[in-house]
Amino acid sequence: MKNKTISVIIPMYNEQEVVKICYNRVKKVLDSISGYDYEIICINDGSKDDTFNILQEISNEDKKLKIISFSRNFGHQPAVSSGLKLSCGDIIIVIDADMQDPPELIIDMLKLYEQGNSVVYAQRTVRKGESKLKTYTAKLFYMLINKISDINIPMDAGDFRLLGRDVVNVINSMPERNKYLRGLYSYAGFKQAPIEYERDKRYAGKTKYTLKKMIKLALDGIISLSTKPLKIVGFLGFTSVVISLCIIIYAILSYIIKADNILSGWTSMILIIVFFGGVQLISLWIISEYIARIYDETKRRPEYIIEKKINL
Ligand code: UDP
Ligand code: MG
Repeated sequence: MKNKTISVIIPMYNEQEVVKICYNRVKKVLDSISGYDYEIICINDGSKDDTFNILQEISNEDKKLKIISFSRNFGHQPAVSSGLKLSCGDIIIVIDADMQDPPELIIDMLKLYEQGNSVVYAQRTVRKGESKLKTYTAKLFYMLINKISDINIPMDAGDFRLLGRDVVNVINSMPERNKYLRGLYSYAGFKQAPIEYERDKRYAGKTKYTLKKMIKLALDGIISLSTKPLKIVGFLGFTSVVISLCIIIYAILSYIIKADNILSGWTSMILIIVFFGGVQLISLWIISEYIARIYDETKRRPEYIIEKKINL
């Protein structure tokens, strides 16, 4: 019988300090697993440093190392998406290049796969080398997204996971851009199992997830999974109508019983204008985030552009 194949997908953006160590560690683990063939797919997400050259050098000697090189930086989610699309494995593993996720865990993930799970997601019990702010905002974000969307995204599970071919086929058939993959894995369903691990510090280099990229990811997550924010706009509208009705009643009453001089209400008037102006602008912003994504989808531009493929 033909061996099953494992595809390991590693997105890389300016990771020259870690490419070699990452390749060596992943390869060592894969070599130690018997009964499976494997391929390692590294995606060079428009790196400006030596990442591509180092990868190319290794790929000359090792045909199992395959490279997808983007024409510019498209971001982590598109990089992973391209790996999912071009992988040929029966089992796909997504892992970061910076070795925050220990590749040795793949062996235990595989055991859970063999027990009949289609998705094995790694759940971090400890996050080393990450700021308190990042840990707390991440927690808050997962709580929020689980509250407002119909699907359940496991807490503290990142992109490090094992996926069966069945799930990957589902993801690959989704034509949408601005993907929030963690949400889509949950959306796809199938039998899923967690595996706990301690998330290490970055091996070298700095985080490539800038605040801007993180905010985009969070918004993509919420917007692609839920339309509740749009309903919140309605709620804000109704609340402001109720508040303004109360103010009108108060104004009429104070005019009738002359308890207050309504002409002197400059401060309260400015406050009310600013408050309702704010509510309206926030509502508009929420709606525009959806419109911007609809616009993005209708343009039908590719999610990423591949400049070069090696060994693929
Ligand atoms: N990454 C990428 N494109 C980007 C940003 C990040 O391919 O635009 C890769 C990066 O090289 C790493 C993974 O995504 O392999 C996770 O990024 P990072 O470790 O910087 O994020 P953090 O762990 O700090 O959240
Ligand atoms: Mg990292």
